[in-house]
Amino acid sequence: MTTAGTPASLVEAARALIDDAESVAVLTGAGISTDSGIPDFRGPQGLWTKDPLAERASNIRYYVQDPAVRKANWAARAAGALWANVEPNIGHHALVHLEQRGKLHTLITQNVDELHQRAGNSAELVVEVHGTTRKVACLSCEYRDNMEEAIERVRAGEEDPACPRCGGLLKSATVSFGQSLDSEDLRRSEVAAHEADVFLTVGTSLAVYPINETVRTAKRAGARVIILNGEPTEMDHLGDIVLHDRIADALPPIVGMRPSAESGLVIPD
Ligand SMILES: [Zn+2]
Repeated sequence: MTTAGTPASLVEAARALIDDAESVAVLTGAGISTDSGIPDFRGPQGLWTKDPLAERASNIRYYVQDPAVRKANWAARAAGALWANVEPNIGHHALVHLEQRGKLHTLITQNVDELHQRAGNSAELVVEVHGTTRKVACLSCEYRDNMEEAIERVRAGEEDPACPRCGGLLKSATVSFGQSLDSEDLRRSEVAAHEADVFLTVGTSLAVYPINETVRTAKRAGARVIILNGEPTEMDHLGDIVLHDRIADALPPIVGMRPSAESGLVIPD
């Protein structure tokens, strides 16, 4: 089933699949965070479209080779330019509701904003396949720390803070272009796709390999697949239910939240 807009019957069908499922694996992408004010990367208002230096900072080769790229990146973070104060939105809260119902198997996310954890999802259920901008990692040793510690050093005058343990280059703990995904993250994602009764994708065009292959894995393993995205995705043909709609509108009722007439907000049943 595919539609533009959301007939109530499709939402009901998706909700019924979730209600019947014992375990639901979820894969999220940039679309769930745009309502929090985080731009996507490549759209007309995208971060990289407007700031080519930011795109170079996301490529490990430029980041390592060019101190100017690193300094501009640290300066932007210290200025709060890179989503310092964003908050989770109703889409994130809906997935917390799914966990509170005891149905969340694993929450795989391609986002690097930690908004799922900040909304209240358990960190141990979240797999950040592209890492996180909220932490820093040394490119030479195993050192990791909170991003805020490094930003404090930049604000105190260091233009390109080095690893306090080994002197190596520090970078946000994201997977940059040119770096490979963490094999344990990929393994956990595959396990989730194999084990869950329902595989729900939210706000992702399912165009990025290899994580988009989890949809095919889930389908082969017998899961029902629900795809929710603003636009058509590359895997719509694998969806048992495909919804092209705003996440804020469609996701809360799918996971069993209902609108509150008094507040206009959406609250759990
Ligand atoms: Zn180090």
